[in-house]
Amino acid sequence: MSKTRHDYELMDAADKLRPLKKQFVLPPGVIYLDGNSLGAMPAATAERTRQVVEDEWGVGLIRSWNDAGWIEQPHRIGDKIARLIGAGKGEVIVADSTSLNLYKVLSAALEQVKAQAGNSSRRTIVSERENFPTDLYIAQSLAKQHGFTLKLIDSPDELPAVMDQHLAVLMLTQVNYRSGRVHDMQALTAQAHAAGALTVWDLCHSAGAIPVDLLAANADFAIGCGYKYLNGGPGSPAFVWVNPRHADKCWQPLSGWLGHEAPFAFTTDYQPAAGIKRYICGTPGIIAMAALECGVDTLLAAEPMGGMAALRQKSLDLSNAFITLVDERLAAEFGVRIASPRDPALRGSQVSLALSEEMNGEAYATVQALIGRGVIGDYRAGAPNLLRFGFTPLYLGFAEVWDAVEHLVQVLRGKEYLQPRFQKQGAVT
Ligand SMILES: *Cc1c(COP(=O)(O)O)cnc(C)c1O
Repeated sequence: MSKTRHDYELMDAADKLRPLKKQFVLPPGVIYLDGNSLGAMPAATAERTRQVVEDEWGVGLIRSWNDAGWIEQPHRIGDKIARLIGAGKGEVIVADSTSLNLYKVLSAALEQVKAQAGNSSRRTIVSERENFPTDLYIAQSLAKQHGFTLKLIDSPDELPAVMDQHLAVLMLTQVNYRSGRVHDMQALTAQAHAAGALTVWDLCHSAGAIPVDLLAANADFAIGCGYKYLNGGPGSPAFVWVNPRHADKCWQPLSGWLGHEAPFAFTTDYQPAAGIKRYICGTPGIIAMAALECGVDTLLAAEPMGGMAALRQKSLDLSNAFITLVDERLAAEFGVRIASPRDPALRGSQVSLALSEEMNGEAYATVQALIGRGVIGDYRAGAPNLLRFGFTPLYLGFAEVWDAVEHLVQVLRGKEYLQPRFQKQGAVT
C-alpha cells in the first residue's frame, strides 16, 4: 500500500540526523532541492564572516596573517576536507576555483607522462562527452598546449576499450552532474594504472555527497568544489589533492609565490614547496575561506552520528522515497520518467526526471513553476527535457520530499508551466 504524508512525518521523527538541519538558515516555505548546485547557508557563516571582517581584519589588520592563522587556512580547511574524501592529513589544500585546480593537476599529470621514457605514443586524454563543460574546456586547452588528443566517450561502456597504450590520463567526474550516475573510482583507477595511465578525478558532485576514499582507490589527482555539497557559499574556494607519490614530482603550471618553499624569502627563482603546498598559487581569499570552513563543519558535525556513511544512507533513503512517489503519482498520469540510475549504488545524491515527449522543451518552465511554489530544483541546458533534484541529507526531511512531489503533480495537472512568467529565462539557468 502507498505511504501517506503521515508515514513520511514518522520517518522524519525517527531520523537520527534530523538535528543537523538546525545548522542551516533556510527561508520559510522553501523546499531546497538544489544543494547540488549551491549548498544552503550555514547558520554559523554570518557571525563567523562578521568576526573575520570586523575583528580579524578591522582590528588585527595585517597581524592576523599570523595571529588569526590566516596563512594556515588553506591547509587547516584542506585537512578537514581530507576527512570527507579519504585523503591523509597534509594532502589537501584549499585554493582557487575547480577550473583552475583542474588546470594545475591535469597539466602536472601530462608533464609526468611526457617525462617518462618510452612514452612518446601515450598522448590521449580520455573523458566523457557528458562531463561538466569546464572540465572539457580546460582539457581542450591543455591538450592543445601539450600536443595531446582529447578523446570523448559517449557511454561508460566504452571505457574498457580506451584503456590502452595510448591512454595518458583518464579524466572523469565521479558523479555525473546531469544524471547523478556514479563511477567506480577504485576499479577504473586500477584499470587505468594497468594500462600505464594516470587518473584525474573531479569530486564536485561527490565531496560531501557520497563517501569517497581516494587513498583506498589509489587515485592520482583529485579536485572539487566548495560551494555545492560543502556549503561554502557562492564562488567559494575549491580544493585539490595529489597522491603523495606524485606531489613532489613536478611543478604545477601556476607557480605562484605562495607555492614557493620559502615565500617570505622573496628570492628571484621559483623553488616549489614540498608536497601539496606547491599547488597554492597566490594569496588566499580569507573571508571566503572562513565561509567555506563553516560549510565543511556542517558535514563534520555528522561524524559522531556515522559521518559520510550515515549521510549517504539518508540521502539514498530520501531519493528512493522520491523515486517511489514519482513512480506512483507521476509516471502513469503525466509520463514522467526517472532519468537517473535506479540502482542506488550507481546514483549520487540527486535524481533527474525526464518529462514526457509531449512536454518537450518545457523542463525550464516546469522548474520555474515549481520555484514559484517554493520548491527549488534546477534545469540544465543541453538536456531540455530534464529536471534535476538534489537530496541533501543535512537539511532535507522525508515530508518535504512528499510535498515536493505533490507540488509537481499540481504544476503538471494545472499546466502551470505554460504561464508566460515561467517561460522567461534569466542569465543564469
Ligand atoms: C560545479 C562544477 C565545476 C565548477 O567549476 P568552477 O571552476 O567552480 O566554476 C566544475 N566541474 C564540475 C564537474 C562541476 O560539477
